[in-house]
Amino acid sequence: MRLPSFLRTFYAFSNTTFHRAPTPFANATSLRPGTALRSISLPSIPFVGALFHTAETRKMSHPVQKSEQEWQAQLSPDQFRILREKGTEPPFSGDYDKHYPSSGTYACAGCSAPLYTADQKFKSGCGWPAFFDTVPGAVTRHVDRTFGMERIEIVCTNCGGHLGHVFKGEGYPTPTDERHCVNSVSLKFSNQDPVKEQSKA
Ligand SMILES: [Zn+2]
Repeated sequence: MRLPSFLRTFYAFSNTTFHRAPTPFANATSLRPGTALRSISLPSIPFVGALFHTAETRKMSHPVQKSEQEWQAQLSPDQFRILREKGTEPPFSGDYDKHYPSSGTYACAGCSAPLYTADQKFKSGCGWPAFFDTVPGAVTRHVDRTFGMERIEIVCTNCGGHLGHVFKGEGYPTPTDERHCVNSVSLKFSNQDPVKEQSKA
C-alpha cells in the first residue's frame, strides 16, 4: 500500500518510539544492536528513561542490585509479587492501612531503606497506607502506562522495589495535596526513627 509521504513519515516516527533516530524511511529491521544509532542510550535522556521502567532501567539506576532469584529467596511470595512484579495487595487488607503510630519509620521491605515517617502518614480512606510526603530522595517516580491509564508509579530509590502510585490534587487537607498510595506489603514499620536520629547527630 502506498501511503502519502507525510503519513509514512508519521508512521515511521511514531513507530520508532525515541530509541531510534527519527529517519523517515529507515527500515526498522536494518538497525542492529551496535550500530551508531544504538549509542543514543536511554539513561542519558532522563525523560525517555523515565518512560521505560523495565528491569534493565532499574538495574542502571538503583544502588541495590539483586537477581530475581536472590529477591525470590529473600522475600515472601507476597513481597516478591508486589515489590518485584509490581503487584497490588487487596484494599483494606494490609497491616498498615489503619496503622497510625505517633512516631517511627516505614522502611522498604526489600532493602530496609527508610521511606516514610509516621508523621507523613494520613487517613485517606482509600484502603492502602497513604503518605503525603517521603523521606527526602527515598522514593523515585516513573510514568506507568499499564491498563490504559497514565499513573505515576513510585519505587524505592535504593532497590527499585515497587511501592504503589502517587496521586496529586485530590483535595486532601495535607501540606502537599499528594497521596502516596503504598502497599503495606512493601513496607516494614519500626519504632525507631533513623531519619530524625541522624539529623540530631
Ligand atoms: Zn528498597
